[in-house]
Order: sequence, then C-alpha cells, then structure tokens
Amino acid sequence: MHYQAAPGRYQSIPYQRCGQSGLLLPRISLGLWHNWGDVDRFETGRAVIRRAFDLGVTHFDLANNYGPPPGSAETNFGRLFHEDLAVYRDELIISTKAGYHMWPGPYGEWGSRKSVLASLDQSLKRMGLEYVDIFYSHRPDPGTPLEETMGALDHAVRQGKALYAGISNYNPAQTRQAAAILRALGTPCLIHQQSYSMFRRELEEGLSAAIEEAGMGCIVFSPLAQGQLTDRYLQENEIPADSRAARGQFLKLEQVQANLPKVRSLHALAQKRGQTLAQMALAWTLRLPVVTSTLIGASSVRQLEDNVKALDRLDFSAAELEQIETILKSK
Ligand code: NDP
Repeated sequence: MHYQAAPGRYQSIPYQRCGQSGLLLPRISLGLWHNWGDVDRFETGRAVIRRAFDLGVTHFDLANNYGPPPGSAETNFGRLFHEDLAVYRDELIISTKAGYHMWPGPYGEWGSRKSVLASLDQSLKRMGLEYVDIFYSHRPDPGTPLEETMGALDHAVRQGKALYAGISNYNPAQTRQAAAILRALGTPCLIHQQSYSMFRRELEEGLSAAIEEAGMGCIVFSPLAQGQLTDRYLQENEIPADSRAARGQFLKLEQVQANLPKVRSLHALAQKRGQTLAQMALAWTLRLPVVTSTLIGASSVRQLEDNVKALDRLDFSAAELEQIETILKSK
C-alpha cells in the first residue's frame, strides 16, 4: 500500500543538536544492524521503518556489512527508501560506515583511502542514494596513518557523497587526534558512535570528555545491551526462538543467563518508576549531557513503540541512580 507519512510526526519526540554542529538528531534513532538482512522478513522491516518515521525518528543508521549477508541491510533499506521514503529525503539522516570486513583481498576492510572510498561507493550503489548524511570510519585502523583515514572522510564530504564525517569505536586519544586532523582539513568531525548501556560503560572512562572537548556529538549503540535490558529474557528457562540470543552469534546465551538476576532487579525498579525496563534503560543512556541520541534496534513495531515511549520520562532521582549502581555492582 502506498505510504504517506503521518502529518503529526514532528509533534512527539525531541531533537537535540549534535555537538557544536547545526544538525539536530532525534533523541532516539534506529539502527539496521540486525532485522533488515535477507534472512529477515522484509515487510516487518518496512512496518518498523514506517512507524519510526511516523513517530518522528528521522535518523536511520547502517553500515556496509550489515545483513546477513553483508550488504543486504543496505540493499533492503534502499528498496524501502525508494518505495516509501524517497519524497522525504530531505527529512532523513541516513548514515553508513566503512571499516569492518566487507570484501575479499587487502582492500575489503580497515581504513586505507582505497578501502574507505570504495566502500562508500558500494554503499551508495546498494542503497540507490546520491549521498549519505553521515559517513563513519567504523573502527580505527592500527595499520593506516590516521591522516589517511580522516583524509578519506574529508574527501567523501568534498565529493558531495557525504554531508558529515563521523568516527566509531575510537578511544579517547584517537578521538582527539581524529578531531584535530578533520578540523585542520576543514571538515569538523560531527559525531562519535560508541557502545553504551548499563552493562557497557567505556564512554564514562575519559571518552565523553574527549568527545565534548572536540565539540562532537555522541550517538550510543546497543543501549539495551542487544535486548538484555528489556523483558525479552525474563521468562524462566525460556529463550524466545525468534530472539537475538537464540541466533547466538552476537549475543550469547551464557551472557544473558549470567545477567538475569541484575535484569530482574532492574525490571522491578523500572516498574516502580512506571516504565518498562527498556524505557528505563534508554532514559538512563540519555541522562549524560554528551549523548545526543540513543541508537536502538527493533525486531517489531511493538518494540519500537515501547522504546520511543522512553522519552515520556527521562528524569531520574539521585536515589534511583544509586539503586541502579547498587544493582549493577551486585554479584
Ligand atoms: P539494542 O541494544 O537496542 O538491541 C536491539 C534488540 O533488542 C532488538 O533487535 C530486539 O532483539 C531487542 N529489543 C529492542 N527493543 C525491545 C523491547 N522494547 N522489548 C524487548 N526487546 C527489545 O541495539 P542493537 O544492538 O540492535 O544496536 C543498535 C544499532 O546500533 C545497530 O542497528 C547499529 O546501527 C548500531 N551499532 C553500531 C555498532 C558500531 O560498531 N558502530 C555496533 C553495534 C551496533 P530481538 O531481535 O531479540 O527481538
């Protein structure tokens, strides 16, 4: 059925400026790492993206290798985009990345100029786009001078194939260096994409200061710890067959089971706040001033809607924050 975006889509969710740039991002963004590959149901992905845009989620995050198979998330997103969203291109922030393994041979991964620029051309072709809004170096490359990788991002922007440059998984020292190189080239680094959740807190260990000093924004990925910080695994002895943990590749059963006692306590606290655990976990990531947007995944419209409602209650009392720390530190 022909899609028309909801007229009230900009009335519900807040947008925040990304660092010192002019760009506003939705406080919740949607990532296509999982659930949009050829192994997934296309119409479910379409329904989630339509609903997200109707709710005001303007930012969709991809990477060359998302799938499986690698590349298929971009191909499927491209199809969805052309069927549903093309007329809204100027309302969308679409990002992609290069750096992880994508094609055979010495140029199919990491951060050489050759690899990064070829990867962007492939991504644009798969999605059928003239440009992406944000193009990231997905990970730092110890074998390539940072000047070369950042030079490739700068070149992509000058070519008009990307509007902004970003980095992901760079540590504080690499972040400072990358920011200085890009600033000198005249393409300030817009954004840093980093893992952050109650279970992964590297952002708090010096990285947030480096990001703020550089005037960059920060978008945090896997804020639900890949689904652990939700009610997904709360049933006794039951791993849902359609869950990420059941697939077992990126989220291991042992990990889920080991974290369950903490998840149960966090769930109880969320209920006292009048929220689902997913909503509390997302609000918790957004409490840091450095965090522009929290980048979720969703395998259904129900999950997406649950998550977006996190924005109804973002505040925490000092006592609640302390209780969360106590739970996280418990054995
Ligand atoms: P999340 O931590 O949000 O996990 C998403 C998964 O959690 C969903 O697929 C679903 O799993 C489950 N889930 C989500 N909402 C709910 C809910 N309300 N109730 C129950 N279960 C729920 O994020 P992701 O790990 O998916 O990462 C998000 C995005 O971040 C990626 O798509 C990608 O764009 C980016 N990313 C970037 C990386 C980088 O190196 N730069 C690395 C990893 C991610 P299920 O399938 O079981 O239903």
